[in-house]
Order: sequence, then C-alpha cells, then structure tokens
Amino acid sequence: MRISVIGCGYLGAVHAAAMASIGHEVVGIDVDQHKIDALSRGEAPFFEPGLPELLAEGIESGRLRFTTDIAAAAGAQIHFVGVGTPQQAGRYAADLTYVNAALDSLLPYLRPGDVVAGKSTVPVGTAAELATRVAPTGATLTWNPEFLREGWAVQDTIDPDRLVLGVPSGAAGERAAQLVREVFYPAVDKGTPFIVTDYATAELVKVAANAFLATKISFINAMAEIAEVTGADVTQLADAIGHDERIGRRFLGAGIGFGGGCLPKDIRAFAARAEELGKHESVTFLREVDAINLRRRDRAVQLVIDALGGSVFGKRVAVLGAAFKPHSDDVRDSPALDAAVRLHGLGASVVVTDPQAVENARRVHPQLSYALDRDDAVRYADAILLATEWDEYRREFAPAHASSLTHGRIVIDGRNALDPATWRSAGWTYHGMGRP
Ligand code: NAD
Repeated sequence: MRISVIGCGYLGAVHAAAMASIGHEVVGIDVDQHKIDALSRGEAPFFEPGLPELLAEGIESGRLRFTTDIAAAAGAQIHFVGVGTPQQAGRYAADLTYVNAALDSLLPYLRPGDVVAGKSTVPVGTAAELATRVAPTGATLTWNPEFLREGWAVQDTIDPDRLVLGVPSGAAGERAAQLVREVFYPAVDKGTPFIVTDYATAELVKVAANAFLATKISFINAMAEIAEVTGADVTQLADAIGHDERIGRRFLGAGIGFGGGCLPKDIRAFAARAEELGKHESVTFLREVDAINLRRRDRAVQLVIDALGGSVFGKRVAVLGAAFKPHSDDVRDSPALDAAVRLHGLGASVVVTDPQAVENARRVHPQLSYALDRDDAVRYADAILLATEWDEYRREFAPAHASSLTHGRIVIDGRNALDPATWRSAGWTYHGMGRP
C-alpha cells in the first residue's frame, strides 16, 4: 500500500520506518529540513533502539523515503498524521496549531477514497471538527491513537498490544476501517485486538490510558509521602499490593515521578478539555495527580539539600540521568533535568550525565555542566542523585568503584533503583524515595 506519514518525530519517524518494514511504500514528510536530511541518509534524528536498522533497511529497499515537500503525499492511499500536540504556552490545553497546519497542507493532495488517519494525541472533539474540513475532498478522516513507548517504539509499532480506530458511521467509515486493517495486516492476522469505534471514543481511549498510568504512578508516590512520615517502605508496600492481580506491580515504582512529552501534557490537556465540556469535576483528580507528581521533584531536591547538611551551595552534585526515562534521549519535561536545574539554581555545582540525552539536555539547559562519561560526572562529587534508572547506573555501578571517585559518600536514589543494603554496607549514606 502507498502511505504518507506527516510529522517525523518520535512517533512519525518510527511509524514510517515500521510501515516500510512490513512491505508498504512509504513517504515520510516533515517541515524540519535537518530531520528529513538525517532520515534520508538513514540516520535516526533521535535515540530509539532498532530504528537505525529499520531506516537503513527501508531506504535500501526503495520502499522508504523522506521529504519536506507535502506534495509527495499525493497518490498515497492512507495518510498518517503524527505531528506534535504540545501544551500551550501559559495554559493547560493542547496546542493544535501543528495538527491544523499539517491537515491544511495535506488537503489539496487528498483524493476521493483516501483515508487520513490521525495519530497525534488530541482533545476529544478534534477529529469531528477536522472531518468537516476533509469531507469536501471525498477522503475519509479516521483517528488511530498511538500507544507506543519510547525505547520500545519499533516493537510497539509493528506489534502493538491493541489497535484503536475512530471512524465516521456508514459505508465510508467501514471502507476506511478495512483499509487500515490491511495496513496493519501482520498485527491483525495474528489476532491483535482491533477496536473500531467512533471518533470521540478513539480520542478518549488515548487520554484515558495516559490518565490511568499517570494516576497509578502518583498513587504510589502519594503512598511514598505517607511512608516518609511513618517509617514504612513504599517499595515493599508496592510489592505487597502488586501481588494482587487486580492491582499489578507495573507502574508502581515510587520515585521522582513521571515526565516526558506525553503524560504531563496529556493529563493537563484532558483536564482543560473536561473544563470546556463543563465536566471539570470528573477529572479534578488529575490536578492532584499532577501536583503529587511535581511534589516528588521537590522531595528529591530536598533530600539532596538535607543530606548535604542544609545547603547545596558550593557543593558538587552529580545527576545520573537527563532523559525522562531510560532507553530514550527525550528530555521533554524530564524530572531529572528539572531537579538538576533547581539544584543549580540553589548554588550547587551540578554535573549531569546520561548515556544518550546529554546533547538534547545541553540544548535546553546550557547553563548546566555535562559529562558524557558516568565516572567523569561523579568524580569529586559530594553527592550523587540517581534520576533516570539506566542500567549503567542501577546495575553496573558498584559502590566500591563509586567510592574511589567521589568526594562524599551520599547517594539519593530518585528511582528506588539501587539496593540500599549494598550501598550502605560500602559506607554510603543512602536515601531512597519513600523508604527508610
Ligand atoms: P515530536 O515533536 O517528536 O514530532 C513532531 C514532528 O512533527 C516534528 O518533527 C515536527 O517538525 C513535525 N511537524 C510539525 N508541524 C508539521 C507540519 N505542518 N507538517 C509536517 N510535519 C510537521 O513529537 P512526537 O513525540 O512524535 O509526538 C507526536 C504526537 O504523537 C503527539 O501528539 C504526541 O502526544 C503523540 N504521541 C507520542 C508518543 C511518544 O512516545 N513520543 C506516543 C504516543 C503518542
């Protein structure tokens, strides 16, 4: 099938490459010339395991190309739109500028029978509005929310756990659903759940899923706050409640909280949209989820201050991790970087390291010092803050080795990823999040 993918960021670039890998003829389109140049050379413009191989294979096969020219979308049977929907400046609502611009640029190239499949995460009601603009072309608008996880994006795109598609009622919607089923044939053939529904449900599935995940994380972080004043251990608590299969242990990792380009802005946009719909009370809890999450960043910073005797001024602090989570170089709303910036603002000499995200972090926060190498980052440090649980820090960093490099013996484990007993027995003062 001939496919266009509009927007080649974390979502779109992977989607384009994945579609080519399953045999489709794909053109990826983006307004960012640098990104398109890199992708055209077969280089991933960001870190995503497996993507470079997929790009190389796609370009080599001739089935995958990239351009800034939207006219290249002409002739494709299905057009995936995966441009960004960031938080509006100074507001909680989603900024739909890019979705609107991408759709407007695509309209002249749509033919009757084409399918537009929106993948961006949008406020409920967006697709119905966009459909009125697509209708005069004879094409059909569908909404196909994306659930990929950065770090596992290739696998999640080729072999998703479910596919959701919002379609208009009637024959056009049925035809569009059939076309999308054919696009995702490897997943559909192996029986992956394929949920065809209306626009509003498809849009809501995505934000509801993210709201649930964010709530689960903030739930355990709220328990961490209670654990901190009672002497309880939130990691044992999570293990114990996680054995209940109705609850489950995943997403019950207490720590410095969630971040990234999705969860924070998605729960805020959901709350803003609910307010527009006159239903703000239905998701008021999301404000609390957000507040708990942000308090954990304060808590991590406070632990560093307390551990250093009440002030970080003039102290050297190594921050392990800059990405919002491991296996990604994405620093959007990263708790790690947020903590690093605050410590810097309090007069600490902060050195940040990350296996993949230093370049991105430096671009956003050039005022911080960076080290590409973990050992260089911790050398002479008075305290270490583990903020992103890369294996390099959680598994492959022995306390005895750390002791040979640092000045102090203080570790703040912002992800509860280290073994307290191992670090303490090596002479370190260990502080976790919600554990004694
Ligand atoms: P991103 O910022 O990495 O990528 C967006 C891309 O769109 C950029 O490359 C930008 O240059 C391009 N773009 C902007 N306007 C354009 C236009 N008019 N025409 C063509 N290209 C244009 O963002 P992302 O992380 O890929 O997210 C994209 C969407 O997918 C968002 O709505 C996000 O919420 C959603 N999403 C992201 C993920 C994820 O893990 N990153 C997962 C699920 C859903």
